[in-house]
Amino acid sequence: PRPLHPPLRHVPLSPTLAVNEAIARKKREGAWVLPLGFGEAGIPIHPALVRELAAGADRGAYGPVAGSAPLRAAVAGYWARRGLPTDPGMIVSGPGSKPLLFALITAIGGDVVVPAPSWVSYAAQATLANVDPVFVATPPGEGGVPSPALLADAVVRARAAGRTIRAVVVTLPDNPTGTLASEETVRRLCTVAREHDLVIISDEIYRDLVHDPSRQVHSPAAFAPERTVVTSSLSKAHAAGGWRLGVARLPEGPFGEALRASLLGIASEIWSSSPAPVQHAAAFAYSEPAELVAHVDRSRRLHAAVMGAVADRFAAAGARVRRPEAAFYVYPDLDPLRATLQARHGVRTAADLCDLLLERYGVGVLPGSSFGEPAEALRVRVAPSLLYGENDEQRLEALAAPD
Ligand code: PLP
Repeated sequence: PRPLHPPLRHVPLSPTLAVNEAIARKKREGAWVLPLGFGEAGIPIHPALVRELAAGADRGAYGPVAGSAPLRAAVAGYWARRGLPTDPGMIVSGPGSKPLLFALITAIGGDVVVPAPSWVSYAAQATLANVDPVFVATPPGEGGVPSPALLADAVVRARAAGRTIRAVVVTLPDNPTGTLASEETVRRLCTVAREHDLVIISDEIYRDLVHDPSRQVHSPAAFAPERTVVTSSLSKAHAAGGWRLGVARLPEGPFGEALRASLLGIASEIWSSSPAPVQHAAAFAYSEPAELVAHVDRSRRLHAAVMGAVADRFAAAGARVRRPEAAFYVYPDLDPLRATLQARHGVRTAADLCDLLLERYGVGVLPGSSFGEPAEALRVRVAPSLLYGENDEQRLEALAAPD
C-alpha cells in the first residue's frame, strides 16, 4: 500500500512539556539532569490529600459536566474566603486549568490580548482556537497584566483594522516573571475592559504562593464581576499537577450564564467531566482544612526564601533580574551578559544557551522567547528540595521558619 501522507496541522509540543520530554530522554540515557523547566512546586503532596484521593477511588461513574456539587460548593467557599462571594452554580471544573482556559478562549471566540511576556500556552491556545493572540507589554515591574493604556490603544487600532478583540488575559501573580500587579493597575485594566467591552480571563493559579503574606492579590473579579472569569487549580499550591484538576469561576449575571452554557457545551464534547476521585480530593483541598493550609503556607515560605537567594546570584553574575514576589520562577534577563556568553560559550541567544545547558550540563530551563519576550531572558523554576535535597530537613525547616 502507498504510505499515507495526510496534511496534518503542525502543532509543536508546548515548550514546557518539550523540555520535560528532553530531560526524560537524557535521564533514560543515564545522564544526570536538573529539571528547572517545567512549572512544578518543589514540595510533596500532603498525605491527607493523598488519603482523600484513595478514599474516592471507587467513584467510577461519570459525574456532572460542571463538576460535583461538593466540589463546586468547596470552591465557592474558597473564593468567598478571598473576598469574592461566589455562587457554586457558577463554578465549572475541568481536567486542569489549561483545558478550561482553552475552552474559555474557544467559547469567547474573538482575538485575545495576552501580556508580554506571559505563560507559554495562552498565545498557542488562541492560535489553536483559530483566533489571534495580541501581545501587549506590561507596566515596568508588574508582570501579568497588559499595561491598561497600551491595551486601550491596541484594541482601538485592532478594531480600526476590522479585527475583533474580545478578551484580555491576566496572570495574578505572574508566570514567568514571578511579580504581582498592583491594585491600581488591576483597577485601571478593569476600566479599560469596561470601556471597550472586553472579557477578562484572570488566571490566579499562583494566588496562594505570594511570598509576602501581607500582600493581597487584587482580582479583577472584585472590580468587574460582570465580565471576569477566574481560573485556578490543584497543580501549584497543592503540587498535584499530575492529578489534572482545574476550576473556573464564571462572571455574575447574564453574560456569565451564557458563558457557562457555552463552556459546558465545549466541556461535554471534550472531557465530559473531570476525574471523579480527583474531584473528591479537590473538594477536600478547596475546603482548606488546617493541615493543608499549613502545608501551602510552608511551601510559600520555602519558595520565598530560596528564590530571593537565586535571584541574587543571577544579579551578582551581571544579569538584570527582579526578586520574585510569588510562585517559583526566577526570570533573569541575560542581555548584559551577551558578550561574555558568546566569548565563553559561543552562544548567541538565550534559546542557544538553553540548548547548551540541557545537552552539555543536563540542566533544563526555558528561554524568554517561549514566553513572548524578552528574547534574552531565562525562566528558571526553583524548588527548595533541588537546592538542599529532600532529606536536608534541618536546612529546609530553617528556611520554612514562620515569617
Ligand atoms: N496557568 C499558568 C500561569 C500556569 O503556569 C500553568 C501551569 O504551568 C497553568 C495555567 C496550567 O496548569 P494546570 O492545567 O495544571 O491547572
